[in-house]
Amino acid sequence: SARPRTALNECVKVVVRCRPLSDKEKKEGYDEVKKRPEQKWYERLSAKTVAENKKSDAPLQVVKVWPERGAVQVYNPKGQDKLFTYDAAYDNSANTQTIYDEMVRPLVASVLDGFNGCVFAYGQTGTGKTHTMEGTADHEGVIPRAFRHIWAHIETSASPDVTHLVSCSYVELYLEDVRDLLAKDGKKLTIRGQELNGFYIPEMTSVVCKSAAEMVRVMRAGNRNRAAGRTDMNEHSSRSHAVFLVTVETAHRANNRIRVGKLNLVDLAGSERQRKTGASADRLREAARINQALSSLGNVISALAENSPHVPYRDSKLTRILQDSLGGNSKTIMIANIGPASYNYDETVTTLRYAHRAKAI
Ligand code: ADP
Ligand code: MG
Repeated sequence: SARPRTALNECVKVVVRCRPLSDKEKKEGYDEVKKRPEQKWYERLSAKTVAENKKSDAPLQVVKVWPERGAVQVYNPKGQDKLFTYDAAYDNSANTQTIYDEMVRPLVASVLDGFNGCVFAYGQTGTGKTHTMEGTADHEGVIPRAFRHIWAHIETSASPDVTHLVSCSYVELYLEDVRDLLAKDGKKLTIRGQELNGFYIPEMTSVVCKSAAEMVRVMRAGNRNRAAGRTDMNEHSSRSHAVFLVTVETAHRANNRIRVGKLNLVDLAGSERQRKTGASADRLREAARINQALSSLGNVISALAENSPHVPYRDSKLTRILQDSLGGNSKTIMIANIGPASYNYDETVTTLRYAHRAKAI
């Protein structure tokens, strides 16, 4: 399903994932647009979607994922029918394993070869960022899959001559604060360095792990720390970025070389726009900051995708701490998550545009 775009930097991949309708959405009568070759897809919308669109007196607003074309179509009969194309597009029939095997596996393999990489989950709250990255008990996410992938590699390649050291760090970015999720008190961290020689976080906790299961335990401990003292974890996680960093060092005794690869797994803050009415001034300022950080990430990714000589890493804390894993020989994957129901339309189109701009010239 990936469409090669040779003019662009192949180290940057942008994919869209549309989650299934939730039970609640199904109960409310929203539909999933299904493919029927003999009919135009938008002629098969449910009465609910059509009624909702009529009620609001807005043009019919629906999106359709075309996995075979790596594209998402936005239909709006009064406006234009627009097709956004990506490296891949996944509909509700794709599970995380498919996305891992097709997109993420090559990136993690290159980390095992000593390169750096970043995987981002982007999208409005409730579209499946955490489902994609962390997963649930029944649907293993990208992060635990990467852990197993790393250890499967280590188990087959370790020998008296080749040894590995895997360590994990986990930080949360909320507005101007970077918090260490693996430190007992979740202490605040300071970013040092500058763009030229690289940014770094001297006091960040780094935990050496000996298995995938141990890495999962570290991730969970960090999540508990992230939730500590929060009355509403969902609300908090929708406004902060979680960055899980895995460092894999491979030592070759024969030539005394050590290769280091870094993998950053990032569950971004929700991309939804704050409604002006009813929001406090603090909340609006907070939302503006979050949007600014997300747009600065988009600017960095699009500069990398275009092989631009200037990449604006300095513009946000997020891009500063990820600088050494963005660009150069690093690989980047942005997974843009969307919801299928018509009430998500505006945010979905915003996400599709953001993801498209991240890769389009
Ligand atoms: P976000 O982190 O973007 O706010 P979540 O990952 O918490 O969103 O997903 C919201 C809800 O939708 C959760 O209940 C989650 O399990 C469910 N969900 C998300 N994506 C999928 C999917 N691809 N398949 C099944 N359920 C999903
Ligand atoms: Mg989440």
